[in-house]
Amino acid sequence: MEHPLYIYNTLTRRKEQFVPLHEPFVGMYVCGPTVYGDAHLGHARPAITFDILFRYLQHLGYKVRYVRNITDVGHLEHDADEGEDKVAKKARLEKLEPMEVVQYYVNRYHKAMERLNVLPPSIEPFASGHIIEQIEYIKEILDHGYAYVSNGSVYFDVPKYNRDFNYGKLSGRNIEELFSATRQLDGQQEKHNPADFALWKKAAPEHIMHWPSPWSEGFPGWHLECSTMGQKYLGETFDIHGGGMDLVFPHHECEIAQSVAHSGHDAVRYWMHNNMITINGQKMGKSLGNFITLDEFFTGSRKDMLAQPYSPMTIRFFILQAHYGGTVDFSNDALQAAEKAYERMLDGWRRLNELRPSETSTVNVADLDRKCHEAMNDDLNTPMVIAHLFDACRAINQVNDGKATISAADLDQLKSTFKTFLFDILGIYDERESGSVNLKPYEQAVDLLLEIRKDAKSRKDWATSDLIRNRLAEIGFDIKDTKDGFEWKVK
Ligand code: ZN
Repeated sequence: MEHPLYIYNTLTRRKEQFVPLHEPFVGMYVCGPTVYGDAHLGHARPAITFDILFRYLQHLGYKVRYVRNITDVGHLEHDADEGEDKVAKKARLEKLEPMEVVQYYVNRYHKAMERLNVLPPSIEPFASGHIIEQIEYIKEILDHGYAYVSNGSVYFDVPKYNRDFNYGKLSGRNIEELFSATRQLDGQQEKHNPADFALWKKAAPEHIMHWPSPWSEGFPGWHLECSTMGQKYLGETFDIHGGGMDLVFPHHECEIAQSVAHSGHDAVRYWMHNNMITINGQKMGKSLGNFITLDEFFTGSRKDMLAQPYSPMTIRFFILQAHYGGTVDFSNDALQAAEKAYERMLDGWRRLNELRPSETSTVNVADLDRKCHEAMNDDLNTPMVIAHLFDACRAINQVNDGKATISAADLDQLKSTFKTFLFDILGIYDERESGSVNLKPYEQAVDLLLEIRKDAKSRKDWATSDLIRNRLAEIGFDIKDTKDGFEWKVK
């Protein structure tokens, strides 16, 4: 390859030249969502990060098979091994079939990803659809002596594995510390060591998602699905495994141990991890009440956290303005700046399409393509690509203002580079042109109607008040009167 791509490998802790195992084919596996709730900002970052990699590898001419799984079983409440299954819990609370919960949130996840212009993966396997493969995988690990059966469950024998290999090489954790630091949990007496993790769990009587196996009626451990499905669809060894940094330990560390115990070697050549998003400097977490779903961003309905709605492209641009390896802090200020930057970039593109060529160029745009490639080849440096495109916008404005000229050949090249990097590789689209409308004026119109209703109520004009409320309800708005006024959402 003329311009080699370098990516940061979490395992070796350095940037490495990317060389596929079977050129021109690239196998790429990314841990997908656990589907028991709506996708939030934390889901957008890995999806967008690996969408950029997927797009760029294809741009470089590789044939990429991109596998992103759906976790619909085995993700338990506490750590990987304890507590109620998250999908099953939701199903119990909502009185639904677990698969109804899964399908509902998978559909919503797909819709949110589509709005963010995240391309669908080549294969999207479900953990619950690969129980037989996971059982076979466990049998191999048991045959190789790195797991044991205990009271109908099967656990991975971490100390034994660590004597022969190196447990902790991805996360850099010290296993001795790990043994002493792991907290004591209920049911732990089944494990020989607190660091051991479940490959198969015997289902408690109240557990509704379970399958037959040689050991018990039960379900697979969470870490197992990715080892099994990755190797099933991408081969015994494949190129790239990605996910959020929060998955490095224990999830990916356990995946490595499982693959080595199963196949005698790690399944993955390059491990890649995106960093996390914080909200006003804080970690995101359910208990902190700062989880904002993507739909809430798009509609602006979380008025306690959001000063306004933010469009899908604003969110995407915001995420791409930071390198995937660094943290990103969400704040209204930062998102409003991203919204302005996105609009300025699109203005540049629209203006570019209206420029008239001259005989000669006085702007230098010839090396934009090279610079953008260099930035992407340097571990997907999207903020640098955006900076180069803004430099081009400045040149476009100079030509537009008559302060500089551009030749026909340069103009064609500039258009082609701009389109390739902004639309094809960064995956940005023009929300105005794509027909997706700016919702702000409509939302302000609903607010206005409800202000009129509030005023009518205060004058005891019940006819007007009821008319507005009933008609909005018929149209599909859910209106709630609150202490300080009203709240509404689309039903
Ligand atoms: Zn995974």
